[in-house]
Amino acid sequence: MFAHYLKHRFLISGVICAFAASAAYAQADYDLLIQNGHVIDAKNHISAVRDVAIRDGKIAAVENHIDPSKALKTVDAKGLYVTPGLIDIHVHVYASTGDPHSYAGDNSVFPDGFTLRNGVTTVADAGSSGYKNFEDFKQHIIDRSKTRVLAFLNIVGAGMRGPKYEDNLADMQPEPAAEMAKRHKGLIIGIKTAHYAGPEWTPVENAVKAGTLANIPVMVDFGTDHPERPLAVLVTEKLRPGDIYTHCYSGLRHELIDGKVNPGMWAGRKRGVIFDVGHGGGSFAWRVAVPAIKQGFLPDSISTDLHIGSMNAGMKDMLNVMDKFLALGLSVDDVIARSTWNPAKEIHQDDLGNLSVGAPADIAVLRLQHGHFGFTDMYGARMDGTQKFDCEMTVKNGKVVYDLNGISRPEWTTLPKDYGQVGDPRWDGLNPARRRGAPAEQH
Ligand SMILES: [Zn+2]
Repeated sequence: MFAHYLKHRFLISGVICAFAASAAYAQADYDLLIQNGHVIDAKNHISAVRDVAIRDGKIAAVENHIDPSKALKTVDAKGLYVTPGLIDIHVHVYASTGDPHSYAGDNSVFPDGFTLRNGVTTVADAGSSGYKNFEDFKQHIIDRSKTRVLAFLNIVGAGMRGPKYEDNLADMQPEPAAEMAKRHKGLIIGIKTAHYAGPEWTPVENAVKAGTLANIPVMVDFGTDHPERPLAVLVTEKLRPGDIYTHCYSGLRHELIDGKVNPGMWAGRKRGVIFDVGHGGGSFAWRVAVPAIKQGFLPDSISTDLHIGSMNAGMKDMLNVMDKFLALGLSVDDVIARSTWNPAKEIHQDDLGNLSVGAPADIAVLRLQHGHFGFTDMYGARMDGTQKFDCEMTVKNGKVVYDLNGISRPEWTTLPKDYGQVGDPRWDGLNPARRRGAPAEQH
């Protein structure tokens, strides 16, 4: 009975809303206008105060000043940074939904609980699934998430499910992996090899074969250290330019030799091999990162290696990893570039990680806090810092998907006394773009 009442009321309101919306539609050029923020857009070489306008889920304009009367909703971002939505290319988000028929990977978390509140709008799962269970991952997680979830497909057919599977050379078949990647072009953006404990090169070689067949990059977690397969050979001979070495400050595979960055890493970088952070639970040490950065070996991309083990240990979240690079002396602009445009290019998603007109309106609005902060590494060692990012607001495809202090929302006493009734056309909940022209935004 109550449900029937709600449905009935919603239908009536919907009709009124549609009528009101069509009347107001023509007057508004933009769904959302973010004013006065310091825009950092590495692709377009912008680091300055700008207004950003959004329409139909896309960036519509980035100008010195955009007339607020042309927008249905205006957010004042004075004193805040406005950046492309952050891109974290190393996460594990093939979480178990409890479906006994699902083959979820080890240690994964659900993406939306960890991404949007950190300004992250796109993640790439780093090999939690292989060709045998990618479509299960897609059905259970990718298709159900607000976060844009892309994937590096594990060269192991069964995906990332522990040593029993990940050390099985017979399950590392390039052809079916490449076939699956081609079937989901744009969603599977790379091939991953990880955690291999043996001395053979087979996992890397087969991952590169699959990556070549599907024309996508390979990401390597180089597994257990073996003298038979040195890091220098990996990055100077085995990987192709554009392939990605993740966990580059772990120190577990001779990234430093006698306190100096492994000469092979410099040579690999010169060839075009990419070096990614992949902080994780066991892959970022101050005693490696500090000398490496001092010697000028910066990461091409900043990423978390988010999983149930890392998120409550040293790593925490994407912003915490970015904060660490501020503490290491990188500029705000540099840290943002390595968390937006650089990773977008690495995974060949050039429409992401920038604020070009026509690009998907994925935006992070960040506050830089100044004070005394501490940041811990994989061993629990602390480094002190004076700057820290907070995420104030996140926009994905033009919709506000996270808003810490309600800067996109009206103050409650300005609303009609009975605001928030189900289906009330004056009130649009969290989604400004859904109701362009609805009078709720104009009282
Ligand atoms: Zn990982």
